[in-house]
Order: sequence, then C-alpha cells, then structure tokens
Amino acid sequence: MSSHGGAIRPKVARNESEQCDIARCERRRHGLTRLCSMHRDRRRSFGHPEARMILPRDYMQERRDVAALFKANPEHPALLAAAAFIQQWLDASAGGDQQQPGFRHLARLHRRGITPMTILAECSAVWLHVDRYQKPDDMRLDFALAVAMLRLAPRDFVKGYQYPSGERRYYRDAGHTDRAAIGDHLRSGLARLFVRIVVACREREERAQQQHAAESAAFVIPTIRKRKQK
Ligand SMILES: [Zn+2]
Repeated sequence: MSSHGGAIRPKVARNESEQCDIARCERRRHGLTRLCSMHRDRRRSFGHPEARMILPRDYMQERRDVAALFKANPEHPALLAAAAFIQQWLDASAGGDQQQPGFRHLARLHRRGITPMTILAECSAVWLHVDRYQKPDDMRLDFALAVAMLRLAPRDFVKGYQYPSGERRYYRDAGHTDRAAIGDHLRSGLARLFVRIVVACREREERAQQQHAAESAAFVIPTIRKRKQK
C-alpha cells in the first residue's frame, strides 16, 4: 500500500502540473487523468469532456414534433415494437433481474408508473434535437438519451443529514457506468426507429415549407387589353 502510494504520488504531482488536454482550457490536470476536474466531471456525467447537459426546455419544439407524429400513428408497428422492447426492460428490472442495463433505475421508473410511450417520446425528442443541432456520432448521444429517460421520475431519496443550517438530502443518481449502459441499450435497440422519426419530422417540415412557398407565391399579373372599339 505504502509502496504503491509512494510510486503514484510523484506521478500525480507531475501530471497535475500539466495543463488540461481540452483546447483553450487553462486549468491543471486532475489526478492521473489528462483532464482538469471540470472536464473529467463532464465526461463522467455526459459521456464527453466537452458535453453539456441538454435540458427539457432545449427540446420543447422537438417534443411537440414527436407528439404530433405519434398522435398521427397510434398503431404504427415500429412504435408498438419499441414500446414492447421498453416494457420488457422495465418489467424485468422491476422483477429484480440484475442483468438488465441500469436495472435499479429502470425499476424506479416502473414503480413511478412511467410508461414505455413516455420514455419513447422523450428519447425521440432528444435524438431529434441532437440531430438538428449537434451531431449524434459519439457517447454524448448515449448519455443524453439516458439522462433524459432517467429524469422522467424523481430520484430515490437515500439519506439526509441534519445541520444547524438545515437538512442536506442525498438522492440516488445514476453514475457513469449505469448511464453508459442505459444509453447503449436505448441506442442499440431503438436507433433505427429514431432515424425514421427524424426523417418523418424532416419531411413534415419540408411539406410545411413547400405549402408556405406555394401560398405566398407571387400572382401572375394578367395583361390589360384595350377594349375593342366599335
Ligand atoms: Zn479542462
């Protein structure tokens, strides 16, 4: 233990004298990572050192777009299959199957009565938002899907401490491993559907634009002909 600590401490000290790897970040590295503590925390929480949290208010429009699509397709086989996929995941997790990705958190959503369609709509909206404004090609998307799904129900209370200034309460949050597992499961199970939803929403937007263009097109002005003189 002491020999290990002795070997590692100079390495940490050397590493912490270096600058964070992220461009334009002037903070010092933390521990043995090549990142400062802020960028390390972001990678841990959101799957990438430069990721930022996507808030529900960021994808309000995408929520409306997805809701309209779902409403118009209540019996679509792909939506029903996706709902069944999520239902099975929720049920197995609630039944104590520890092999399910993020089972503890899935069991919480199940207990709180979160439906598969609610999860599907939320994740579709996030996917659509990421497709419109960012690029869905790395772990950021996995994490964004997981975070959005986990946010649908309040977290479980773990414990509280009484301080003279008040109570400090702790809740069970999904860590890096659970978020990664949940995001990967959503993405590998539902990516094809999410892509189809993006295509459908894009088509709807294009049709609306075409209709608007047609309605606001300039009139052809007919020429004025002189009346024939009798
Ligand atoms: Zn940094």
